[in-house]
Amino acid sequence: MAKTFPTVSSGNILDEILNNAIEYGASDVHFEPNGQQFNVRFRVDGLLYQIGGFTDFPQEAITSRIKVVAEMDLFEHRLPQDGHFEFVYKEKIYNVRVSTSPTIHGQAVVLRIFNREAFVKELSELGFEEEQLATVKNIITAPYGMILITGQIGSGKTTLLYSILNSLSTPQINIIALENPVEFTVPNIRQLQVNEAAGLTFSLAIRAAVRQDPDVIMLGEIRDSETAQIALQSALTGTLVFSTFHTFDVVGLIIRLKEMGVPRSVLAHALAGVVSTRLVRKICSDCSEPYKLSAYEIKLLGVLSNGLSLRKGLGCDKCHHTGYRGRIGIFEVVQFDDEIREAIVEDRSVAELKDILRSKISLNLRQAAFKKVVDGITTTDELKRVLGPEL
Ligand SMILES: [Zn+2]
Repeated sequence: MAKTFPTVSSGNILDEILNNAIEYGASDVHFEPNGQQFNVRFRVDGLLYQIGGFTDFPQEAITSRIKVVAEMDLFEHRLPQDGHFEFVYKEKIYNVRVSTSPTIHGQAVVLRIFNREAFVKELSELGFEEEQLATVKNIITAPYGMILITGQIGSGKTTLLYSILNSLSTPQINIIALENPVEFTVPNIRQLQVNEAAGLTFSLAIRAAVRQDPDVIMLGEIRDSETAQIALQSALTGTLVFSTFHTFDVVGLIIRLKEMGVPRSVLAHALAGVVSTRLVRKICSDCSEPYKLSAYEIKLLGVLSNGLSLRKGLGCDKCHHTGYRGRIGIFEVVQFDDEIREAIVEDRSVAELKDILRSKISLNLRQAAFKKVVDGITTTDELKRVLGPEL
């Protein structure tokens, strides 16, 4: 599979690698010294692919070039560093975030490439099923409350968050976003760069934000108890608060927030909704072919498999012979109601809470994923890869 990507030759090496990365739709470029060579890998649609390795090109030269353009300390080799730079390709501006880390074979460098157009999308383009989209629109247009987005790293949380903010953004409302780092400037949103090293922590930033007459606050993440408490309090007193959270499901999130010392009544009444998200790769439309379902798939899909003809990407030049091209979200949307609030206030057991939530969710992650398979958008292999034990 790795052989389908071209090996990058010398020349203006960094520009050439970045041009290639963007051309292939890579989100990240990894430079990894391993003692024998300096490896280059691209992350495309969530998976890493080996692009090539330099054996005769001094790794020092390429690392130094990146550190110069990203305004990092050129002579610091022993500690990790962060930086960023802008890169122009085909008249489009890309924001490149750089992270270096010392390894036993020298410095490893990861470049994350952001493209604003790919970043802020219409909510209807993200992959929500119709009824889910209606619920999301209902939750985000409430006058106050907290809406949390959960999922692992790289599950589309940030794209969803920005798409929501973009859909709410008008000159009539004050949206304050607290981010670390600020990835892109968004019109009509007051973006504040949280800088822990300089003492501007999330908890300090949100204290300042609540005094700035906000209608909507977006918090990049909730890591500490103080930030959680202030965010939930402001959600109770008239602000719409959005944030992301690293948990697998709603019950996990409730448990985590309780552990952070948030009183159950605040939690129950402040939370308006939770959206869980994952990203699955889409079957390449240029090489998709129908195939016969395996016994495993028939068992997995159950009644859905009756008379079903599924498709698979065979691999072509357009999809770099992976059979997949682009990604789409699968979602689970929970709108909090009186029954859920009561269960939280009464501190019901995890099992009871799960039962109540199950009865409220029209389509859980697994069902949403199956729908994407049945609709011919993704494959059962991809579901297994993304949902793992949840499947
Ligand atoms: Zn293809």
